[in-house]
Amino acid sequence: MDKIGSLIKQKFRGKVLPDEPMSLHTSLKVGGPADLFCIPEDLDDLRELLTVLAETGTPRMVVGGGFNLLVRDGGIRGAVISLERLNRLDRLDGFRMRAEAGVDNGVLVRFAHEERLAGLEFLIGIPGRLGGALGMNAGAHGEEILDRVESLDVLGEKGLETRPAAALDFGYRYLRLAPGGIIVAATFKLEQGDPAEMESRIEGFLAHRRNTQRVGYPNAGSFFRNPPGGHAWQLIDAAGLRGLKVGGAQVSQVHTNFLVNTGGATAADFLELARTIREKVKAQSGVELEEEVRIVGEE
Ligand SMILES: Cc1cc2nc3c(=O)[nH]c(=O)nc-3n(C[C@H](O)[C@H](O)[C@H](O)COP(=O)(O)OP(=O)(O)OC[C@H]3O[C@@H](n4cnc5c(N)ncnc54)[C@H](O)[C@@H]3O)c2cc1C
Repeated sequence: MDKIGSLIKQKFRGKVLPDEPMSLHTSLKVGGPADLFCIPEDLDDLRELLTVLAETGTPRMVVGGGFNLLVRDGGIRGAVISLERLNRLDRLDGFRMRAEAGVDNGVLVRFAHEERLAGLEFLIGIPGRLGGALGMNAGAHGEEILDRVESLDVLGEKGLETRPAAALDFGYRYLRLAPGGIIVAATFKLEQGDPAEMESRIEGFLAHRRNTQRVGYPNAGSFFRNPPGGHAWQLIDAAGLRGLKVGGAQVSQVHTNFLVNTGGATAADFLELARTIREKVKAQSGVELEEEVRIVGEE
């Protein structure tokens, strides 16, 4: 990896951090090291990086804010790419705007508010960056981000392509891109908004989160997807698992679909806790829970 790191540095203007602990880049605060953690300066820099990685056969993955990511304790072989410096926001004609993938969700909502562009208020309080929100089709209060997208700019094997929303395959908490596809920006089609009404919606959503999600420990939000017609938290609660602990990982006392790091947890603790929850919920209710959190890396 040292050789690849130096090859990258020859043309790459961004940052390259070798053996970077992923626990520093995930909200669960667990996860072993990434061989190389790369932060491109801009789109051209990202292209240079991808070329070197492809030429050297180095595996890669992209991260946003790491708020929906469980990295195993062995870490990630190859390169982890953060788009945090691709953070341009532009108002376009009509009720449209374009945002790069590294923009923080809160900044996106505030920019839309200032521009009186309504339709993204539900995103307030969903932590992370735009690329991660699109990659997960993040949503809340009955709304989902991809419903507001006009098109995505995706960097893939064929280069940079603009994919209209109608051509995308997405649904509840998923977006299927061609393997290796990286979202670099999105264009949104919004509505004319009344600033006071928008502010009131934003405040309402934030208050709801303060009341239901103040769990007090590092977490990744909902750990399991809601099964069709049901709520994962109710099934976990009904199975008597509130407060269940494995090492430093625990089912939150406040919200049973939040698994929290009470201090010193490992990824293995979270994986064992999740396995126990799946098993007990299946035995109690017959429902097979699936993780919403993306699990990556080596044991
Ligand atoms: C307290 C709390 C509350 C939460 N509430 C909600 C909620 O209400 N609704 C909700 O949907 N989620 C919620 N989440 C989960 C999380 O915030 C969202 O899934 C968020 O969209 C993840 O964004 P991220 O930038 O952290 O992505 P990451 O966790 O870094 O990545 C998520 C996935 O997206 C992929 N990805 C990231 N960037 C790109 C890109 N540029 N191109 C292609 N793929 C990419 C990653 O490879 C990974 O598979 C919550 C989390 C927390 C901690």
